[in-house]
Amino acid sequence: MVGAGVFGAATASELAGRGWDVVLVERYHPGHVRASSGGLSRVLRFGHGDDVWHTRSARRSLAAWGELEQEVGEELVVRTGMMWFAHREDGWEALTERTLRDEGIPVEHLTPADAAGAFPSLATDDLAFVLHEPEAGAIRADRATRALVRQAEQRGARVVVGHAQRDGDGVTVDGERLAGDAVVWACGPWLPGLFPGLVDLRITRQEAVYFGASADWRAGRVPTWVDYDGAAYGTGDIDGHGFKCAPDVEGEELDPDTEDRRPSESHVEHAREHIAHRFPALADAPVVQTRVCQYSLTADTRFILAPVPDAAGVFVAGGGSGHGFKHGPTVGRVMADLVEGRAEPDPAFGLGPREVGTKLRTAGAR
Ligand SMILES: Cc1cc2nc3c(=O)[nH]c(=O)nc-3n(C[C@H](O)[C@H](O)[C@H](O)COP(=O)(O)OP(=O)(O)OC[C@H]3O[C@@H](n4cnc5c(N)ncnc54)[C@H](O)[C@@H]3O)c2cc1C
Repeated sequence: MVGAGVFGAATASELAGRGWDVVLVERYHPGHVRASSGGLSRVLRFGHGDDVWHTRSARRSLAAWGELEQEVGEELVVRTGMMWFAHREDGWEALTERTLRDEGIPVEHLTPADAAGAFPSLATDDLAFVLHEPEAGAIRADRATRALVRQAEQRGARVVVGHAQRDGDGVTVDGERLAGDAVVWACGPWLPGLFPGLVDLRITRQEAVYFGASADWRAGRVPTWVDYDGAAYGTGDIDGHGFKCAPDVEGEELDPDTEDRRPSESHVEHAREHIAHRFPALADAPVVQTRVCQYSLTADTRFILAPVPDAAGVFVAGGGSGHGFKHGPTVGRVMADLVEGRAEPDPAFGLGPREVGTKLRTAGAR
């Protein structure tokens, strides 16, 4: 396994649990700040429009996250419930509601007036309805990534800190060749550099802004929220980090190693405008911290979970497309099944060209 982000750590843990002798190579540190899995929190929701695969994957993953919590004795999922702010009666949220009901996943259709009490201050004048997923929430991403690595180690995996490079169908780490039956490259935004011409991803700069707010805005007192058409999402204050707002418009392309992680004025202002509009009481709340991270975007926001052509036993897991974290445990199982030859690769997650499709994250435009 190369890469100890959520995809690599979950795959390493799954394979070690199935009895494989696993070496997990990580260049920096599991869940480090430049990795996509290194954030303080990620939204954990089941709703994905009419996409049944992702809906089921998120649901299955929640159960796996719960098992991990038991195993490592740490609360990783923040069970806040989640609200979708629907601007239209017949948009993404209506599709989501239908799919969740078909799958037997709890969901409530609220009028804007019903939803207003969920936050100390919520503007609903531009909303058609609010969809509530009571069992959704958020996940402490960096901590969950490290917990997966610990779980992999407890199952016998060995973690090596080093810079892996492709060497035919194998791997060298800082000049030393590692032999193995299979190699899975789960290197997030570093994948296009490792597989030029084969892995097609846009690596974009994304920023989250945290606002200082009273304890009435802590996670659990308020739900996690997503504005699909408004391209923004956030959480209540988790662990004192502040009330989070992340504009979800796709940013400029970046290099994950060299990008300066200071926030841009325009993003901070965008986040402030968004919360001033939606949560008016926070209009003047101070910015208490910011995070700059990157998406690894496929054209259709579906992941890449695939064998590498003409390279026996070599696989790629990536293309999280700004919504992959919650699916980590499912990705681990899919990759382990591919490595073991138990499942055929799904062309939807293949390496070929993709059609631009409905985004599985938010509409991604302001
Ligand atoms: C701002 C932001 C918000 C997001 N919000 C959400 C959300 O709300 N909900 C959600 O579910 N998902 C969300 N996501 C997406 C999610 O975080 C990613 O899909 C997921 O973390 C991707 O994990 P990964 O393992 O593919 O990549 P990464 O976490 O980037 O891990 C790749 C690892 O590979 C290592 N590596 C790379 N090259 C080498 C090498 N040559 N040798 C050794 N190691 C190497 C890196 O150091 C790194 O640790 C968000 C992402 C961002 C950036």
